[in-house]
Parts: sequence; structure tokens; C-alpha cells
Amino acid sequence: MDILLLIEKLENKNALSYEEWVYLISHYEDVSFEGLSQKAQKVQRRQFGNSVYIRGLIEISNYCKNNCYYCGIRAGNKNVNRYRLTKEEILECCRNGYPLGFRTFVLQGGEDPYFTDEILVPIVYSIKNEFPDCAVTLSLGERSTQSYKALFDAGANRYLLRHETADNAHYSKLHPQTMSAENRKKCLYALKEIGYQVGCGFMVGSPFQTNEQLVQDMLFLQEFQPEMVGIGPFLPHCDTPFGQYEAGNIELTLFLLALTRLLLPNALIPSTTALASAKHSARQQGILAGANVVMPNLSPFQFRKDYEHYNNKLFSGSESAQELEKLKKQMEEIGYSITVSRGDYVNNSKKVV
Ligand code: SAH
Repeated sequence: MDILLLIEKLENKNALSYEEWVYLISHYEDVSFEGLSQKAQKVQRRQFGNSVYIRGLIEISNYCKNNCYYCGIRAGNKNVNRYRLTKEEILECCRNGYPLGFRTFVLQGGEDPYFTDEILVPIVYSIKNEFPDCAVTLSLGERSTQSYKALFDAGANRYLLRHETADNAHYSKLHPQTMSAENRKKCLYALKEIGYQVGCGFMVGSPFQTNEQLVQDMLFLQEFQPEMVGIGPFLPHCDTPFGQYEAGNIELTLFLLALTRLLLPNALIPSTTALASAKHSARQQGILAGANVVMPNLSPFQFRKDYEHYNNKLFSGSESAQELEKLKKQMEEIGYSITVSRGDYVNNSKKVV
């Protein structure tokens, strides 16, 4: 097999066979990243011009009933100052973000049993009511199909639920027995069926990960055809069972991000906070590898330090016009510009499968 031909095939057909993925991923060190990222940028520019979409991230709760081995806000971590935002506080975050140009608000949190549908539905409804030209994205973990439906009916447009790893055995090394890859995927299919724009994704370099599992991840993206894909390096958090493991490789993360852009030309792909936290300038590198979304933090400043999945998470948000200006500059430095837009998923490419 020839690496360049495989990359061209991925670009033209938006799909590869299992064997081809194995070959490509296991030869990642032989790939010219320069050439690959140029292709990814070409596709990204064809779809989105030089626009980068912004999403205002609101971290509504760091309570979580789960105990994922990698995550700093896991239930078992007693060193976390737990907080949850009120409806009014959440709306206040939106009110701060709107005049800055945010037209998507992402409500993210741990799986906090406090946030029942009775609590959440009015929150989603109020945001949509006050900001009818904005999209609401939820990222609140696994819930029942009925709950996803109720939130969709209240006006939520998108849902982010990373699959974390598509491989069952690997999944069970990252999570306690109570959780399963199967249920995670079941949730993803349910969300799609309901009509959400759905995001999945995975961590790169999570403990015990092999190339074979990354192949499974790419095949899952190929099969599931998500509207959004979040890919970031695993970063250790000292108060978790994985506190002593090495962080994921940034180059490999960027490589997979670029392949994802070729696989899913229309997908909304963030240059993630984990990337930006891992290395200065990696947020820009993510865009140059084909990402087209950034998700600045709109959470109230006093709670930011308490919402830490991993250590050294970047705190600077864009609650202030000044911070957003910095981000705009970073994007302009590399030839991109931040747009004021909902930035919905648009399927305008011909599918050649
Ligand atoms: N409870 C929600 C939100 C999870 S936080 C849910 O279940 O979807 C968002 C993402 O952060 C996770 O999906 C995971 O991929 C990532 N994350 C968590 N801990 C991490 C770590 N230590 N390093 C890198 N990414 C991490």
C-alpha cells in the first residue's frame, strides 16, 4: 500500500477499509504531516472558507455520579469543590456571551442527578426564548432516550457525547463496570434518531490505547457519520487512578484530526481545550490541521478552577471582550477569522461511497 494514495483515497471517497486504516495509522510516522494538513485545510476551506465558529462553553455542574478513571471530576475525587449553576446564572453566562458574538451555547457538565428533565427543560426553553437566533448544545453525558427527546423538544439543537473509545475492551479499562461502550453508542444512535446534530469523539493516548483501537475509532466515525467530532489528547489528573500515566501525543492527535477532516468534510471539528492546554500554539495547530471550531469558556470565573478534567487546564476564557480579541488575533495570525454565526452542520458534499 502507498500512504499518499491512501490519503488521496480518503479525500476522494471519504472512507477506507479496515486494512487501509490499519496501514495508515500504523505508518503515521512516515506521513508528511505538512502534506496531510495542507489537504485537510483545503477541504476545510472549501466547506467553511476562512471562518472559524465559536461556541460559548458553560460548565453547569462539576458534580458527577460516574467514576471514569481518567476524569478529574469523577465522583470518587474528594478534592473537588463541587458547584452547580442556577438557571439564572446560566442565563447570565448567555447574556455575557451574546453581545460578544456567541450564537451557540454549550451546556456541559458531569452526570449530575440534580439536573433532572424538570430542571433542565425550563433552562433550555428559557435560553431559546431569550436568544431565539442561538443554538443550544448539550453535553451532559448518558441519559434516557425519553430525556434526550424532552430536551430536544424544549429546543436543544445539538448533543456532544464522545464515545471515548470505540473498542469495548478498551472502554472497560477506562471506566468502571457500570459503564459500557455499548450503552454509550446506544445513546449516540438515539440522539441521532431524535434529530440532534450529534458529536462523538475520543481521547488520543488514553492509557492502554493501541493503534488497533484508533482504527476502531476512525471506523466508528465512518459508520456513525457524526455532525461534530471532538478529538483531544488524554491529559493526566493527579487525583485519578490514571494520574501517573503519560499525556497523549500532540502530533498524533493532530494527525488524526486531519484524517477526520478528510473522512468527514462537513463535520464541525473543534480545536479542543485539551489541545490548547497541552501545548502553547496547539489551538492554532488544530485549526491548521482541519478543525473549524473553538469553544471559549463562558462559565463564571470563580468556578473555572473547579471544572478540571485534567491538570493545567487552560482557564482563560472569553468572558471579556479582551480575551476574545486575543483569540481573534490568534486566528488572524494563521489566516482565519472568527464569525458571528450559529454555525450549523450543512451537508453540501456529494457522498461517494
Ligand atoms: N459528562 C459529559 C461531559 C464529559 S467532559 C459526558 O459524559 O459527555 C468532556 C470530555 O472531556 C470527555 O468526553 C472526555 O473525552 C474529556 N476528558 C475527560 N477527562 C479527560 C482527561 N483526563 N484528559 C483529556 N480529556 C479528558
